[in-house]
This record gives sequence, structure tokens and C-alpha cells, in this order.
Amino acid sequence: SVGGHFPAICVVSQYACLRRTTTENHNKIFTDVLEELAENSEFNESKGPCLAFRRAASVLKSLPSAVHCLGAIQGLPCLGEHTKAVMEEILIFGRSFKVEEVQSDERYQALKLFTSVFGVGPKTAEKWYRRGLRSLKEILAEPNIQLNRMQRAGFLYYRDISKAVSKAEAKALRSIIEETAHWIAPDSILALTGGFRSHRGKEYGHDVDFLLTMPEMGKEEGLLLRVIDRLRDQGILLYCEHQGSTVDMSKLPSRRFEAMDHFEKCFLILRLEEGQMERDGGLQKDPGESRGWRAVRVDLVATPVDRYAFALLGWTGSRQFERDLRRFARKERGMCLDNHALYDKTKKLFLPATSEEDIFAHLGLEYVEPWQRNA
Ligand code: ATP
Ligand code: MN
Ligand code: MN
Repeated sequence: SVGGHFPAICVVSQYACLRRTTTENHNKIFTDVLEELAENSEFNESKGPCLAFRRAASVLKSLPSAVHCLGAIQGLPCLGEHTKAVMEEILIFGRSFKVEEVQSDERYQALKLFTSVFGVGPKTAEKWYRRGLRSLKEILAEPNIQLNRMQRAGFLYYRDISKAVSKAEAKALRSIIEETAHWIAPDSILALTGGFRSHRGKEYGHDVDFLLTMPEMGKEEGLLLRVIDRLRDQGILLYCEHQGSTVDMSKLPSRRFEAMDHFEKCFLILRLEEGQMERDGGLQKDPGESRGWRAVRVDLVATPVDRYAFALLGWTGSRQFERDLRRFARKERGMCLDNHALYDKTKKLFLPATSEEDIFAHLGLEYVEPWQRNA
């Protein structure tokens, strides 16, 4: 094609599940700004603009090279007027005044800070902001604020869990949890999900996500609680929020994008000893801090084996990839997909799957590897 930098041969789809997105992002200068604007829209409860900015950032992440002029983005999907204006600012001035305005906004700063605490969502953050609170210190000093158990843990371990988790730390945690699960049930299966499964090449995450199952249906019942007990006995369980299973297979896959799933799960904070790290594992020793351990956030989900593939696909992310998979299923295939199941609305039946490949095949999609799902 004439003028277009991305010729017709690599037409970019509006759906992230029809694109390949590795962690190699050639357009970070744009996507960082767009994601910050998305977050600001989220704080303002502007769902439409929030999704629009996230979609735009996601499309730019999938491009094989950096965008150097506005002409280069002609014909790309999901790039609206607001996004183009922001990109133009960055191309011309090397910075975005719009995002600088947001960053200097007192409310944005406070909400971003407050929601960085484990257990604090936008609603709580907003409440605190409205009470005139601006710093974490002020919140802790305010006698009328009732923190729940999760938030208390969030404050207690704030320094540690704000620090990125390294691949070596994720590996060490995997060994600990796998050993614990195998001690209870030798044939239990533990899989790494989330960013540490999909971020090939990316070295850090904000937590470590795992999926636990048993080869025989029903045998997973009670396993997670026993794993938790055993972690407690080992003295490494700093915090645990356990949610029992509320899976109801008589209900169709939910229509809501962001629907939380109903599997049994726990949100943990674990104590990781430095001694448990591989010596060559790249644990950077902070000379000022040598207490010998750190706290790490861990998500652990237990599923019956017949739901395993759906849960694995749903927990591998990225969030944008998941959203688009579901949107694609609904809009292009008349199917409902969530973390538990895939339902064909035309044929009125559930489609079984034992692997992620099965699910992509049911959807008529080419398989996308986990490390190509960083949309
Ligand atoms: P990070 O490095 O920041 O942890 P991540 O991709 O692992 O990146 P997570 O927040 O850990 O991000 O989430 C991993 C995946 O699990 C996401 O795709 C998300 O959709 C899914 N997920 C997270 N929390 C839940 C939940 N409560 N219920 C269902 N799915 C969830
Ligand atoms: Mn994660
Ligand atoms: Mn997680």
C-alpha cells in the first residue's frame, strides 16, 4: 500500500486474540501514557474512555516497530481521536501535556497511592480522598478509619509487596508450593499462571499466580485448605484470604467482562527466605536491608480437572487479551467464554476442553502462545 507503514499483509485486528503481542513493546512512549490515561478514566468512572485507551495501547503494543509519524497509524483499529491527539503531542513535543496534567492532579495522585495498597480498591480510595486524606501516613494516623484484615496486611507488608517479584523468587515459591502440595497429594498438579507464564523475557511481576488441580475429578476438594495449613505450619504464611468454591455449572458463562471467577482460591502473602533462593538467581541484595527474607503476594486457585484448561487460559492473561477473547467469542462466534466454560449459544451446548489449544480450536482461532498474549 502507498504511504502506510504497516502494509495490508499485516492488517491489525481489533481483537487482541487475533494479534501476537510479546513483551517487546516498540511503542512504550505512547502506551505508558495511554495506560496512565486509562487509569485516570477508571478513577473517574469513565468506563468508555478507559476501555478505549486500553484498547489503543494494546494495539500499539502489537506493532512490529515504533510509530514515527501519524501517517503510520492510518488504518489501525481502536485508535480514536483522543488517542491520536495524545500521540501527536508525543510525536511533536516528546511529551504529553494531557498526561502531565493528570499526573499533577491531587486526586489522581492520592487514588493511585491508596490503590497501591493490597486490599484497597478505587471505592475505598475515593472515600479516603473525600475525607481529606492524602498520604498513607495520614490514613494510619486517622483513628476513625476501620481497616479490614486484608488492608491491614497491605499496610503491614507495603514496602515488600510494592517491590517487584523476580523470576528467581517466583521459581523459589513454585518449589515451595509444589513440594507442599506433593507432600499432601503426590499426584497433584501445580501450574504457574499470570505474568510469570506469559511474560517470556520479562523478569518481574507484582505477584505470583498458581493453579492447582488433581488428575481425578473431585479429589481437589479440601486440597487447597490443607496446602494452606501446611504453609502455616512451615511458618511462611503471613496472610491468607480463602474463598470457597461457588462454581455453579447450571449457570451459563457470565456476560460480564471482568467477572471474577467462582473457583476456590486464596490470596496469600508468603514469607520467602533468602536462603531458599538459588544463589545465581539474581536476588539483588540491598545493603541497607539484610533481615534475610521478604514478603511476596501469591494467588493460588484450585480447580476440578475438567475446568483446568479454562482456568489456565483465564488466569494467564493479559487482562486485555482475556477481554478480547470473550468479546470475540460473543460477537464473532455467538459463544460465551469465561474462566469456567465455553458455551455455544446456537447449538445450546457446553464445549469441553482439556487444553488451551482445544479452546482456541472451538473458537476457530489460531493458537496464541502464552508469551504472545501480552496485549
Ligand atoms: P502481574 O505481574 O502484575 O501480576 P499478571 O498478568 O500476572 O501481572 P494478575 O493481576 O496477577 O496480573 O492477574 C493474572 C490474570 O488472572 C489476569 O489475566 C486476570 O484476568 C486474572 N485474575 C486476576 N484476579 C482474578 C480474580 N479474582 N478472578 C478471576 N481472574 C482473575
Ligand atoms: Mn500476577
Ligand atoms: Mn494475581
